[in-house]
Amino acid sequence: MLIVMKADATELQIEAVLRVIEELGFKPHPMPGANRTAIGITGNQGSVDPTHFETLPGVAEAIRVSKPYKLITLELRPEKTIVRVGDAAIGGDELAIIAGPCAIESRSQAFAVAEAVRRSGARFFRGGAYKPRTSPYAFQGLGEEGLKILAEIRETYGLKIVTEALDEAGVDLVERYADVIQIGARSMQNFSLLRRAGRSSLPVLLKRGLSATLDEWLLAAEYIMAEGNYQVVLCERGIRTFAQHTRNTLDLAAVPAVRRISHLPVIVDPSHGTGKNFMVTPLARAGVAVGADGLIIEVHEQPDHALCDGAQALTLEQYEQLVSDVRAIHEVIAPAAVS
Ligand code: PEP
Ligand code: MN
Repeated sequence: MLIVMKADATELQIEAVLRVIEELGFKPHPMPGANRTAIGITGNQGSVDPTHFETLPGVAEAIRVSKPYKLITLELRPEKTIVRVGDAAIGGDELAIIAGPCAIESRSQAFAVAEAVRRSGARFFRGGAYKPRTSPYAFQGLGEEGLKILAEIRETYGLKIVTEALDEAGVDLVERYADVIQIGARSMQNFSLLRRAGRSSLPVLLKRGLSATLDEWLLAAEYIMAEGNYQVVLCERGIRTFAQHTRNTLDLAAVPAVRRISHLPVIVDPSHGTGKNFMVTPLARAGVAVGADGLIIEVHEQPDHALCDGAQALTLEQYEQLVSDVRAIHEVIAPAAVS
């Protein structure tokens, strides 16, 4: 059920509707918009009777929701969500660039990359302290020590920190040291982790699962939002296909597909999406051209020596060139993206 309030509904009228929803034992999700407030309802097992709401003052419409999702949809919020991270944003007019190494390996490595990221004008720094590796014998990240290095980078350069939480205890730590919780592709359907992230006050960057359909990915976002955290960024990072010329197949059609359904910002990860250094820049350009709100890019000061994902890491020089390319493309397509 979706309650659409009249454009001139008062705060008191909205509050009265929220109270009725709570009295029925459900959870209300008010979404103020440019023209009207809509209220999503979760927590109901069966359908909700619209007659509870239709006659309440200020209510324009009570609409039954036939789709599997309730909170990510444009019906609930016709305007795009802008995820704000302090004075930076994802989903606004500016192209969001999140860059950094796959993993934080040492203080000197992280600072060398952060320096270049700052110089490029990007607002976000990425780097894993907890790495979900295919092999248990591969480098697993520096753990809390890595988070402390990230916090130092935030302090030194003013960059916002995006880093992965592998489990619920990891969310507690990310909350202590960072600005955005990354949920990795392998965790996209870790429902207790999604719920925990949904109770956080930090925004969540939700990567698409290795072989997740659009619906599964959007429903994972619903898990987070159903807990009350509406600051979710979707990240297309490539999916498994039969293709062998890339690590994953970057599904750029997901960007306009998401746009048609959801108000959430969507970014593209051409690093994991291709797995190959020489493909990252062309696919980053393409990602911006299809209307992504931002990019997440792996950069290393010495890709040959990277402890994780070296084959897809850009050098500092390549990264600098990428930023200048994608900014130029964004400038050309931005007016179209807004319409
Ligand atoms: C990463 O961003 O380094 C990462 C592990 O990504 P994904 O979860 O998309 O594989
Ligand atoms: Mn990586």
